[in-house]
Amino acid sequence: MRIILIGPPGAGKGTQCQKLVEHLRVPHLSTGEMLRAAVRSAAPDSLLAAQCMEQGLLVPDQIIVGMVTKRLEAQDCRKGCLLDGFPRTRLQAETLDDLLERRAMSVDGVIELFVPRDELVSRMLARKRADDDPTIFSKRIASFEAQTAPLLDYYRGQGKLASIDGLGSADAIFERIKQALKRFKRPPSGGRR
Ligand code: ADP
Repeated sequence: MRIILIGPPGAGKGTQCQKLVEHLRVPHLSTGEMLRAAVRSAAPDSLLAAQCMEQGLLVPDQIIVGMVTKRLEAQDCRKGCLLDGFPRTRLQAETLDDLLERRAMSVDGVIELFVPRDELVSRMLARKRADDDPTIFSKRIASFEAQTAPLLDYYRGQGKLASIDGLGSADAIFERIKQALKRFKRPPSGGRR
């Protein structure tokens, strides 16, 4: 299965992704993790990426698309994957659709983790990460609202969106996600996967 998890910073994507990859037995593709690894190893373009991340801005599409394309082409992603933090812009979503279509594959479903803004801020104050400074965190929420939230309509239009209430215990939220997975239709056998 090819699933996308979308949610604002602090929505709990990391926790749910861990549970989901175990459940689906597919690789976890987190662009945030890939970028942090690229920065640690001083990979090409990583200085620009680090600057964007530190400021709570999105890393340019070109860098992200190159990174994800390479990862998606790996053998272990053939049967599916969990996309976490990607796509985050309309261009990334369209690029992903094109890329999969050329390989006769598609996204099976998109899960939105919905958490109200006040709750996101109190969660952020309770954890510590370099880009979790309150001003930067507000910018990351603003990037989400301006650039990523419109993707929800894009996937709703494709009939692929499931919106999940992101409040409650991690286990309760995961139960809701598992119910949503059941609703994602599998293509008829012999059809696109
Ligand atoms: P969160 O979802 O909590 O914001 P992530 O670990 O997914 O955290 O991302 C951290 C940062 O990495 C983002 O604020 C952004 O700067 C950058 N980033 C991650 N994924 C993308 C992407 N698909 N497009 C652009 N920038 C990205």
